[in-house]
Amino acid sequence: AELWQNVPLAPADSIFKLTTAYKEDTFEKKVNLGVGAYRDDDNKPWILPVVKEATRILLSDETLDHEYLPITGLPEFTAGAAKLILGLNSPALAENRVASVQTISGTGANHLGALFLTKFYQWGTNEKKVYLSNPTWANHHAIFKNVGIEPVEYPYYDPKTIGLDFSGFIGALNAAPERSVFLLHGCAHNPTGVDPTPEQWAAIADVMVAKKHYAFLDCAYQGFASGDLDKDAWAVRFFVEKGVAMLVCQSFAKNAGLYGERVGALHIVSPDKETSIKVKSQLSVLSRSEISNPPTHGARIVSMILNNPSMFEAWKRDIQTMAGRIIDMRKEVFRLLTEELHTPGNWDHIVNQIGMFSFTGITPAQSQALTNEAHIYLTTNGRISMAGLNSKNVAYFCKSLDAVVR
Ligand code: PLP
Repeated sequence: AELWQNVPLAPADSIFKLTTAYKEDTFEKKVNLGVGAYRDDDNKPWILPVVKEATRILLSDETLDHEYLPITGLPEFTAGAAKLILGLNSPALAENRVASVQTISGTGANHLGALFLTKFYQWGTNEKKVYLSNPTWANHHAIFKNVGIEPVEYPYYDPKTIGLDFSGFIGALNAAPERSVFLLHGCAHNPTGVDPTPEQWAAIADVMVAKKHYAFLDCAYQGFASGDLDKDAWAVRFFVEKGVAMLVCQSFAKNAGLYGERVGALHIVSPDKETSIKVKSQLSVLSRSEISNPPTHGARIVSMILNNPSMFEAWKRDIQTMAGRIIDMRKEVFRLLTEELHTPGNWDHIVNQIGMFSFTGITPAQSQALTNEAHIYLTTNGRISMAGLNSKNVAYFCKSLDAVVR
């Protein structure tokens, strides 16, 4: 008998499937609102000027070679990355109780964090379960299942208000057995664009501490949400201050436009330095068996930007360029729908939501109609990537949206 005959054919990834369908479409005004990658006003991928500059410097540096990095990554990169997300005045950093490891972007950080939990987390009665927001980034489900952790859902998005189901969320935190693991999006929730307010974060942190829950914080959009790196790290830093047990997954895919370079980090915050040293030693063992050593190029770029004050300032301007364009598109969609087209329904959520994505609130049938009739590609849950909109296609998008909701 032949080998692998019993392997079932897996469905194509739904997001990448959209990209393929978009590429094959020959309609002139087609729009791709599927994938979460930044595009400039000409619908082109954007290499950040500061990244170009860093690359130029790296390429002309004759002292650099292709030797292996340490297992846990480029030290200047992980140290800079930890400061970026936890803050320059982080008590956890001052007390040397953060174990930071370079990972294969945010996905690798999620994976390594999940794997570490399977080996060392002191589970309560909720053994090997993780609470994921309903909905969440689809890959979260796969990442945890792959390491034998069962995803269970907590209420998050309320279709009636197109906002946060705060009471459902808090109810789930209270109902979960002590020491449960909750995955929280640090900012710019994917796919909804709906984040808790600071007051709501404070209430969430209180329950997390009271119930000794573990916060698995995924932060893939720092700076991308508001345009301000510190503002977008607020919830993460607040959790450290409140003493919530936690780890942070960090990605430089979006905020540095380094998608394919796979630059990320996992930061595990421990109660004290001695514990942190042990945690880091085990992360190193796990990483060794998974990837041996992380890739150099992207980490060198980000490290240079984080550790050079003038380049850091230039990066902040680049981030504002991206976040600013997205925020402008939100305002323009809102203006067109409400003032020009008088589209039925309330569209406040378009400007209230944050980050790369917007949950439009349209039905699967309406989103299908947008694709079939207007050649606008989006996931059937009604999520649109705001980065796919620009000054040339936003009017066409709004007119088409107006037509399908009437
Ligand atoms: N987490 C969330 C919520 C995301 O949306 C993404 C990317 O889409 C990631 C993590 C990780 O992305 P990457 O592995 O490219 O850093």
